[in-house]
Amino acid sequence: MRDTPKHQGLRNQLVQTLISKGIKDKNVLMAIARIPRHLLLESAFEHHAYQDKAFPISAGQTISQPYTVAFQSQLLQIKQGDKVLEIGTGSGYQAAVLHKMGARVYSIERIKELYLKAKQNLEKIGIRLKYAGYGDGYKGLPLYAPYDKIIVTAAAPYVPEALIEQLKPGGRLVIPVGNDMQDMKLIIKNDKGQISESSHGSFMFVPMLQNKD
Ligand code: SAH
Repeated sequence: MRDTPKHQGLRNQLVQTLISKGIKDKNVLMAIARIPRHLLLESAFEHHAYQDKAFPISAGQTISQPYTVAFQSQLLQIKQGDKVLEIGTGSGYQAAVLHKMGARVYSIERIKELYLKAKQNLEKIGIRLKYAGYGDGYKGLPLYAPYDKIIVTAAAPYVPEALIEQLKPGGRLVIPVGNDMQDMKLIIKNDKGQISESSHGSFMFVPMLQNKD
């Protein structure tokens, strides 16, 4: 499988769909138009790669729906050079989109098989993250903290304190919180270190795993 003008055409259609669903950030749309999502999917789903749908990847996990990736990326308000921590590398798609938007991306994944696969996937499409590793999102990635932005791509039962701690003053954390359905929360730490929170609609993610070896 390669990236061809046909795939590019399908991506442009996907971008139009995202615009019709309310995505406005030009940088997000540019990144979605450029990342070859079909190369990150299991081959059985390759032909559906540019539908606005989530698909299974290995280990019972999913690649997020493009709309969800676009929505979370837009909420983050990525600026060139932002240092971003992603929780839940999965296929590597969200990380690739953030990288294309100009962020310096650090991503951790709780399932070893997936983190190894994501590394291969990202290499295949020529994207080098600052860091892609095995780790637990409840603890964040203190080694490289603090971050301008943090994005969680699995359903969190609560907002882990470590993630708030690892956010820079002026930073933004986007995290889906809840069990069956999640509320997309945007948490902002102001320059004085005070926290404010707002809600941005219902989404459905796979659960953020707890107490896994
Ligand atoms: N961002 C991914 C979406 C993957 S789905 C993409 O674009 O494809 C959510 C991912 O979070 C899964 O791969 C899952 O294994 C991972 N995950 C679940 N619990 C986690 C935890 N506690 N820490 C880090 N990653 C976790």
